[in-house]
Amino acid sequence: MILKMDTPIQYIKGVGPKLGALFEYLDLRTVGDLLHYYPRTYEDRRAQTRIDALVPNQVVCLKAQVLQIRSFKLGTTSRKIYEVLIGDGTAKMICRYFRIPFKGYFERLRSAKTVKVVGKVVPRGKTIEFLHPDIFHIHPEDSKKLNPAEELQDELLAIYSETEGLSSAKIRRILNTVFENLDLQDPLPIWFREKYNLLPLKDAFQRIHQPDSASYENLIQYRDPAQIRIIFEEFFWQQLEFARHRELRNKSSSASLIQSPFPIEKILHSLSFKLTESQHRCLQEIFQDFQKKFPMYRLLQGDVGSGKTIVAFLAAFPVIQSGYQVALMVPTEVLAEQHFLNAKKILEPHGVKIGLLTGSLSAAEKNELLENLKSNKISLLIGTQSLIQKNVEFFNLGMAVIDEQHRFGVLQRQLLTQSQKIHPHVLFMTATPIPRTLALTAYGNLDVSTLNQMPEGRTPILTRKTTEIKRPQVWQFIEDHLKQGRQTYIIYPLVEEVEFHNFKSLKEEFHQVQSRFKNFKVALLHGKLSSKEKDQIMKEFRKGEIQILLSTTVIEVGVDVPNASIILIENCERFGLSQLHQLRGRVGRGPIKSYCILMLGENASPEALARAEAMESTTDGFKIADVDLKLRGPGEFLGVKQSGSSQFKLADLYRDQPTFELAYQAVQELMRAGFDLKQTLIFKEKASDEILRMGLSIFN
Ligand code: ADP
Ligand code: MG
Repeated sequence: MILKMDTPIQYIKGVGPKLGALFEYLDLRTVGDLLHYYPRTYEDRRAQTRIDALVPNQVVCLKAQVLQIRSFKLGTTSRKIYEVLIGDGTAKMICRYFRIPFKGYFERLRSAKTVKVVGKVVPRGKTIEFLHPDIFHIHPEDSKKLNPAEELQDELLAIYSETEGLSSAKIRRILNTVFENLDLQDPLPIWFREKYNLLPLKDAFQRIHQPDSASYENLIQYRDPAQIRIIFEEFFWQQLEFARHRELRNKSSSASLIQSPFPIEKILHSLSFKLTESQHRCLQEIFQDFQKKFPMYRLLQGDVGSGKTIVAFLAAFPVIQSGYQVALMVPTEVLAEQHFLNAKKILEPHGVKIGLLTGSLSAAEKNELLENLKSNKISLLIGTQSLIQKNVEFFNLGMAVIDEQHRFGVLQRQLLTQSQKIHPHVLFMTATPIPRTLALTAYGNLDVSTLNQMPEGRTPILTRKTTEIKRPQVWQFIEDHLKQGRQTYIIYPLVEEVEFHNFKSLKEEFHQVQSRFKNFKVALLHGKLSSKEKDQIMKEFRKGEIQILLSTTVIEVGVDVPNASIILIENCERFGLSQLHQLRGRVGRGPIKSYCILMLGENASPEALARAEAMESTTDGFKIADVDLKLRGPGEFLGVKQSGSSQFKLADLYRDQPTFELAYQAVQELMRAGFDLKQTLIFKEKASDEILRMGLSIFN
């Protein structure tokens, strides 16, 4: 039977429904899925060592001669122990078996001259031996006679993530059958492959799953041409998607704004501070985008506290003055509320009508708000993900600002596909600076503005790690600052809504802290409170009526209370580096000297300690992000499991940057050439498959 990429795995000879179900458990349904199921690693079975150099508890591979084969009865039972004595000229050694690996296993060794032994060296008394090693013939003639069907000659074996009943050996055997019957059309035409030096797809699959031992070094470092071909393709499809989106966007028209210079002077005058040069520059970059015919698509990145909000407000103003609406979307309600209060202070005096869409609105209030939005009585709407619900209808959305939000794959599409006459300008804001490769894959092809300067008068935050022994001193330190009128955050590593059982302990902590600080007001903020309760607490904390705010990570991003000067992070080992940096950014937001105390739990790992030390050594978000990216890898770093990057099976944004560049260039060149992709580049089957997977229609 000829196998195609979309043939169900079940239909492969030797699989059937039962084994098929096991594959399904691994989320593998088609031949294509199986081919894309890349080895976890490779086992190098080339002879590497000598008997006299062995030490216990290692898995090794060596060449030897079989000297003797013996068997004994085990006690009074009928079970037998087998021993194969081997020697390689440097020493002799016993291979011990408590069962027969397969019928004829020992018999076949009698005729062997030289064999290969792969297995674990274990101590036995004062000496060492092999326990259940695999013994292979080295000369194919030997093995053919006595042991057909096996793949034992392979010196380099693909090792997969296994599941019970589905070993790597089984997967290799099935892939053997696949390669013998595979009919695969390469989605990339020859001229293209030649141009970018790419292997044909089938060869690439084969080299990855049935490797040649000479490829070992390259394969384990993901540098083999076969891997590069696949990695290239993964980047290529994604960038092509983005490029097509961009092309669509550039052809669409955006809100046409009033003539520049834009009237922001009066707002600037009303601020209690002067913009930094950086803020001015980023704002100019945005204003230049506004003068183009097509919508802006820009990322504003700047470390925690660098003042992104005001840039967004100032950018929104001319859009609103031109008669359009602006949406400001944030990840949490706490932050939405804060932006709302800020916007009221800064924009409302200049005639901007502002709405806040949160869960704390009653049904009637919400309806009224949505009505006002539809009839253009509100020109700035602030809220969480709730902004992209179906029933939220704008009169004429001219710009969308997305603050501190990595997870917006869905949103991005919605903004682009919206059935609007015009396409809104889009401004993303993030405190997590990301390398270009990451930006291009996570956000698509957008322009970047960077705030690389902090507002004046900030004193650097002093960060110190500590342990429970120092608790009394830590409490004293906090008390001293409270007495000077400052406020404090205490953060608990409670994953929102998930860890119910820890919830009780959070309340207990709260009572303990309150009884330690009897003269101060302590409040507890967490994700399970209603929006109203959260609002109330934040309001009181902002006003200074609450002095200590115990909180989970609901305040992680964006929250801005300049009078808070200490943040104590409990069990800091449970936080990632970027998260710690975000949390630390809650303090040091004004001229007051601020502190970040990292309380390490008893079981903190060396890595956790390393994170705490990285925090002590720098407050530079760019440096932190770089370390974090290396520690965690890009997927987790960006929290993009749900969006674009997760579609990569083999590619790694960090490791494969050169291949990314190549794929990126290839896409740029195709676009420049005005290439008719539908006709020339890609062939039906694979292409449609791929497009379905990505849920788009670049070929229409
Ligand atoms: P982030 O970039 O983390 O979102 P915010 O926009 O919340 O930072 O700004 C942090 C604080 O700095 C706010 O209190 C804001 O009012 C203040 N701020 C912003 N720009 C300036 C500036 N140029 N000079 C002084 N303070 C500023
Ligand atoms: Mg912010």
